Amino acid sequence: MAFGWIDEQAELRRRAGLVRTLRPRPADSPLLDLASNDYLGLARHPEVAEGAVRAARTWGAGATGSRLVTGTTELHAALERELAAFCGFEAALVFSSGYAANLAAVTALAPHGTLVVSDAGNHASLIDGCRLARGTTQVVAHADPEAVRKALATHDGPAVAVSDTVFSVDGDAAPLAALAAACREHGAGLVVDDAHGLGVLGEGGRGAPHAAGLAGADDVVATVTLSKSLGSQGGAVLGPARVVDHLVNAARTFIFDTGLAPAAAGSALAALTLLRREPQRAARAREVAADLYARLTALGLEAVRPHAAVVAVRAPSPEGAVRWAADCRAAGLSVGCFRPPSVPDGISRLRLTARADLSGDQIERAVRVIGETRP
Ligand code: PMP
Repeated sequence: MAFGWIDEQAELRRRAGLVRTLRPRPADSPLLDLASNDYLGLARHPEVAEGAVRAARTWGAGATGSRLVTGTTELHAALERELAAFCGFEAALVFSSGYAANLAAVTALAPHGTLVVSDAGNHASLIDGCRLARGTTQVVAHADPEAVRKALATHDGPAVAVSDTVFSVDGDAAPLAALAAACREHGAGLVVDDAHGLGVLGEGGRGAPHAAGLAGADDVVATVTLSKSLGSQGGAVLGPARVVDHLVNAARTFIFDTGLAPAAAGSALAALTLLRREPQRAARAREVAADLYARLTALGLEAVRPHAAVVAVRAPSPEGAVRWAADCRAAGLSVGCFRPPSVPDGISRLRLTARADLSGDQIERAVRVIGETRP
């Protein structure tokens, strides 16, 4: 039977208790949300939602074509100018998702003959970028600039190192300054994915490259998503203008993809405007993360010290993590759950997001539920 092997895989997943299902979220969910990536609480902010409505009314519901044909509006250009200015880069290019932005950055900057040095903890979209790139990838130990230096030393020719700035599973940080130093020693480029840094790290949320003094450097490229702190949807690559021009001409996920929907561009731009006006939101998200971490570890739970707004709590097993998240849910708390195959064996986690708009009472309630339901 066609696709017969699918049933065998499904049966294995069922037996292991690891079936994934989609659960539609009601508009007025009663659950306390520590699962979404809405770090600054902007996805439902009236000004951000209004940015989407205004954009859709002016420019239409969809972009109507690829960016190089009809899919670039003045709104896309304005968003690109503002993203670059806010994060401190020369230029920016917007994509329909952060995933597409990462595929673009890695594939277009690592043609045949290029060595790509990739952190073992990188996000799936960077990994897929490496898989699609014509260059050769070498995966190196997690957050280890010395391993990057050694890998670069083995190669004669163009090279690029790629790393998340904040790793999506554990919320730990990449040693950006040391990575940049290793790259510079070897004349290599550095591509960093700041999906979890934008809006949370750096002055007023300008991101991890800005905080590390790397924004605007001619050998550093950053990718971001518009779908986390900015509460919208889409992604972008930030870097020197010559890199952005190159992506316009060479990145397949830019050239062959329909442009970002105007509503998404409009709400992202509104979110950036708000973030400039209310820079304290970034620091508050970090404060909530530190508070969550302190309270959870005080209960004897094992958590990873957070660097941004992601707080990872160790679970005893994949099944234990799934059950723990379900028990939290039954008690009114929505938390993320990471387990194989999303993460390697032995790394199952509850993944909590520290939203800037959580109140002290909500933080207390969340910690109580997590403690009471621990496996
Ligand atoms: N990079 C990282 C580190 C992420 O966590 C994500 C989102 N899960 C992405 C890239 C992809 O971004 P988007 O959701 O906008 O496609």
